[in-house]
Amino acid sequence: MTTTKADPVNEASGEGTLERPAAGKIVCNACPVLCQISEGRTGACDRYANAKGVLTRVDPLLLMSQVVSADGAVVPFDSGEPWDGTVLPDAPVFVTGVGSGTTYPDYKPAPFIVSSRHAGVDMVTVVTEGIFSYCSFKVKIDTDRYIGPERAPIRSQGEVVGHVTTMEYGSQMLSLGGVQHLTGGSKKEGRAACDTMLALGNRQAVDLEIENGAKLVVQAGRAPVINGVAERRMRVGCGSATIGIFAKQWLAHVDEVIVVDDHITGVLTEHQAGRFLDMRPGGVKVTGRKSTPGRYFQVANPGLGWGGTDITDPLAIVKAIDPKEAWPGERILMVSTTGEDCAYFVLDGALQPVPAPIPAEVKKVVDRIGENCEPALCTVLFLGGAGGSLRAGVTENPVALTRSIKELLVQVTCGGAPTYIWPGGGIMVMVDVTRMPENAFGWVPTPAIVAPIEFTMRLADYARLGGHMDRVQPLESVLRRERYRLAGWDAANPWPVP
Ligand code: SF4
Repeated sequence: MTTTKADPVNEASGEGTLERPAAGKIVCNACPVLCQISEGRTGACDRYANAKGVLTRVDPLLLMSQVVSADGAVVPFDSGEPWDGTVLPDAPVFVTGVGSGTTYPDYKPAPFIVSSRHAGVDMVTVVTEGIFSYCSFKVKIDTDRYIGPERAPIRSQGEVVGHVTTMEYGSQMLSLGGVQHLTGGSKKEGRAACDTMLALGNRQAVDLEIENGAKLVVQAGRAPVINGVAERRMRVGCGSATIGIFAKQWLAHVDEVIVVDDHITGVLTEHQAGRFLDMRPGGVKVTGRKSTPGRYFQVANPGLGWGGTDITDPLAIVKAIDPKEAWPGERILMVSTTGEDCAYFVLDGALQPVPAPIPAEVKKVVDRIGENCEPALCTVLFLGGAGGSLRAGVTENPVALTRSIKELLVQVTCGGAPTYIWPGGGIMVMVDVTRMPENAFGWVPTPAIVAPIEFTMRLADYARLGGHMDRVQPLESVLRRERYRLAGWDAANPWPVP
């Protein structure tokens, strides 16, 4: 036997009623799961709780301010420090979607539609936590090392949660999560994908295993760990580019340089850079497929060795030494694209390369390759489709929001962080998770990812696009009614209200 009671979420507005069990539980209607929550407990996602019979968002609403506490103390970005609740006069405060709550079943207006005034113009920010069924994380790993074949499945908790995509310049791209893994496979796969995505978004370390490839530890803003070894340097360029950059600095100190690279291995005296400097051909012939003079593809197999190849002995790629060109005493440097691996040889009377100590002037240039490498990092971008029912929380005419965003009338942010909106249909939003507040992402067991999103525009434009004008409230009203915490604004992010 159940009784019908006002939905606690909507009691303030008088909207909506829900059935609930008589045994003192309340029903959360913030997502389709409709958890029945006992007093003092939280629902499945830990985002909502039953606090003395009232459905309560566990995390307080996150406000961010450029000017902080009343005594002038600067509250560091996302410090979690308590705030006395005073907003300085004229202090710009931005209401983020973090802790704001969701709007399922979608027809309801967003939890907060906050008015403000900037430079004499009335503005409004529509604030919500979107439930993203269609979303994924695009991850860039700065490494030359071979982590696995393109299109290889990536596993977490034994389940396929993504795949290897293209190799880019000094980096390897991964696609993790996505609706096919969330809902298109088994329940276990969906849960593993959701766990992986949640951890990535919240900047936690994630263990991944690539089929026929490497084991990775990926964490936003940190160096990738490949088979237990933390990557240090992102290569300065491909082998050909490295030749071009440093050719002049090698001239007079060495007779031949071979930059070993899985993509393009460069041979200095044959390369256009060496010819331009009138270098004598060194006669060292390397394996692989010649692309253009001094540039060779596939000198070895991909791997974890020199320059993303599988070699550990650089002479393994020397196919022949041409006696018509080479000469006894010829000085040869072999080096990787990060400068982490190098070897120096001098040809003996039989034109055989003999290892020799690397001269200081040559070592200086090798060190400069290292100096020009940037730290290897993992970059994690959230990609979510906000063009669906989420728009109903903003306007009664959803396509008007899509058009207004495309016409740049609406600024879209995620937890205050700037986003990139993909051209074309829908509202495909992409954001760097390191620019968002910590722990900004949540989940629901459908499964789907919950992410903060804010739409800021002129109040007049909001009215024009069919916005929920009767729900617009000033910041003061939010401050009066809501539990919130204040954090300092991340100075690296542009202020979202123009
Ligand atoms: S899982 Fe859904 S219904 Fe359950 S507490 Fe979380 S938001 Fe509410």
